[in-house]
Amino acid sequence: MIIMWLFIFILFLLCWLFVFIKPTIVKVEHLPLSEHFKAITIGPFVFTKLPLSLREKAHEFRHIKQQRWLSPWLFYFLYVLIFLYYRFVGESFFHAYWKIPFEKDARRYETIYTQEDYYFKYL
Ligand SMILES: [Zn+2]
Repeated sequence: MIIMWLFIFILFLLCWLFVFIKPTIVKVEHLPLSEHFKAITIGPFVFTKLPLSLREKAHEFRHIKQQRWLSPWLFYFLYVLIFLYYRFVGESFFHAYWKIPFEKDARRYETIYTQEDYYFKYL
């Protein structure tokens, strides 16, 4: 039993370390939920079908920063939990997404950072 918990803990730490590698934008043909989102950030990778504006990059890279603070597991756990809470209390899909504190924080950074060199300083 202790071996299993140790394995899970090491996996948790490796996932956390992995998010510190250089963020990479990955162009893909298909994106899940693409009718709702232009890009999805998973770990250090930003998956998108279309080129991203500076503002959109700032938003997605902020999600990478959030994962670096909390660890990817805790970030996604809280993200989904808060989204489900808002859905449970009757918000629409869009409003539930809009109210997630991680999204509010990322939207704030869209307007703060619009300089190209920001991405090199930041990462
Ligand atoms: Zn976002």
